[in-house]
Amino acid sequence: MNKKQKRNLIRIIISSVLVIALNFVKADGIFKFMLYMIPYLIIGYDILIKAFKGIKNLQAFDESLLMALATIGAIALALYDNGDYTEAIAVMLFYQIGELFQSYAVGKSRRNISELMDIRPDYANIIDENGQINKVDPDEVKIGTVIIVQPGEKIPIDGIITEGTTSLNTSALTGESLPKNVSVGDEAVSGCVNINGVIKLKTTKEFGESTVSKILDLVENASSRKSKSEDFITKFARIYTPAVVFSAVALAIIPPLALVAFGSTAMWQTWIYRALTFLVISCPCALVISIPLSFFAGIGGASKEGVLIKGSNYLETLSLAKTVVFDKTGTLTKGVFQVTAVHPENIDETGLLHLAAHVERYSTHPIANSLRAAYPNEADDCNVSDIEEISGYGIKAKVNGDIIYVGNSKFMESAGAKWIQCTHSGTIIHVAINGVYAGHIVISDVVKPTSKEAVYRLKKSGIDKTVMLTGDSKETAKKVAEDIGIDDVYAELLPEDKVKKVEELIESKAADKDKVVFVGDGINDAPVLSRADIGIAMGAMGSDAAIEAADVVLMDDDPVKISKAIKISRKCLRIVHENIYFAIGIKILCLIFGAVGIANMWLAIFADVGVMILAILNATRALFVKNL
Ligand code: ADP
Ligand code: MG
Repeated sequence: MNKKQKRNLIRIIISSVLVIALNFVKADGIFKFMLYMIPYLIIGYDILIKAFKGIKNLQAFDESLLMALATIGAIALALYDNGDYTEAIAVMLFYQIGELFQSYAVGKSRRNISELMDIRPDYANIIDENGQINKVDPDEVKIGTVIIVQPGEKIPIDGIITEGTTSLNTSALTGESLPKNVSVGDEAVSGCVNINGVIKLKTTKEFGESTVSKILDLVENASSRKSKSEDFITKFARIYTPAVVFSAVALAIIPPLALVAFGSTAMWQTWIYRALTFLVISCPCALVISIPLSFFAGIGGASKEGVLIKGSNYLETLSLAKTVVFDKTGTLTKGVFQVTAVHPENIDETGLLHLAAHVERYSTHPIANSLRAAYPNEADDCNVSDIEEISGYGIKAKVNGDIIYVGNSKFMESAGAKWIQCTHSGTIIHVAINGVYAGHIVISDVVKPTSKEAVYRLKKSGIDKTVMLTGDSKETAKKVAEDIGIDDVYAELLPEDKVKKVEELIESKAADKDKVVFVGDGINDAPVLSRADIGIAMGAMGSDAAIEAADVVLMDDDPVKISKAIKISRKCLRIVHENIYFAIGIKILCLIFGAVGIANMWLAIFADVGVMILAILNATRALFVKNL
């Protein structure tokens, strides 16, 4: 509890004790009134001030006004017939208890989430000219600086390890509890915790561009993207509160006048009392607070599992997913290719690998990495220039004066080279020199060990259709899809064809509310990520493109997390709907009871605070998603 909450708790206790004590005091008239005003003002002064300010600023229709009107009205009635003030004070008391509970719950879940996301590094260790370790603000560290990370410290900035080996705990980022072993040459991603060895790393980014900053930005901004349910509640409250106030006025005036008209007594007091009860019932607090809290908890719980959702609107859309479309390379397969065969034409094997590795010198495509790795001495002094990477085709570059094409069969056709079909299974990378075919290199990728499980779980959770899109050849695509159990495959697609396919899938879906999800690794598929109803990028540890283009970011590259993300979203939306129906249902019941005089003010406030507490407790359930 913070200071303010403690103060409010003390107010609640003092005021309750006073009210109970006053019940044993014999007093009448104005003296009684003055005695009871003490606990009333202790517990309600801030609400009265807020209500007054609301009227002054012409934003009157809020909860404070409802509470102020109801209690002042009840006190006036009590003063008029020397009745009981306890009720009015109790209304304030319970209202304040509800408020206290609410601020505690909201504060707690906020704290929970920032604890979950406890990845913000406080400092970076740099070595000064005297060889001493100095702690500096990570913001001040320039790219290329060598920093030291001791065991137990967080890696403050993304970098490459230049000295030492250690295990990294990535759980704050990925939800994955297994440590990751790293050594010289490996990338160290900020936000991970160094477990055992001392390491030195050379930073590759500034702090603001590092993974840790990107993730924190993303999580902090998530609550500003509102879902439809939240918009609904805001609009609902805006119409609902004034509507109830006017109904209350009508309830206080019309029935008594009607009674007089029919010749009976007006019973003003009864009807005014009912109208006041109406005001108490009308507080929309349960909805107003519990719906955003549910989304907040859902997003928080998800981020703990390494699923970052950029806003509650995306959480809502994700829960309606019916079709899941996958990119192949890097998403369902590891994206780590290995050369399995080399078939040169009029050139020797090494010569072919040499050319391919050179052309791929600067590419970040997984294929490029494998071709570079297959030729050990890539960084020789050959002259590589005019590099042109053509998405979905391959790369063209000038190597020692010759124009070399490295890519798929379509690319060979555009270069005018007569390519040869290969019987090996795998991805075939053809090479042409100045338009003349020079053979091909067979590389193969392996399916991720959990891809099959991921597709199975999606099916089991009620996803209608799984689709795979790839720029790779039909044969490879088909084999992967069969292995994994994907329904439909579309191969040999260029990035723009992938966008078209996803658009087709969006148009052909059964119902308007069904949503199409696209899952990719952010390499060559950013346009598709943004075109799909929901774009999920995976393996975001270190890849900015993916973090930016997607609506949902999976920190590690385990495809099983996709069904988990969908389940988290569904659980959260289920809770939101439960709360909406429950709160509105109870409200309507109470309003009816209040209007016909069955519910008194006691019941009204119990119902209100009770519904709110239940709705908040229900909302916090959205935080618990570990075992989904
Ligand atoms: P995927 O859809 O499987 O993720 P991409 O769209 O990234 O694949 O690439 C499609 C195809 O284009 C690859 O299978 C390959 O034949 C060719 N290609 C793309 N980039 C390169 C590259 N850097 N070097 C060689 N071939 C490439
Ligand atoms: Mg790809």
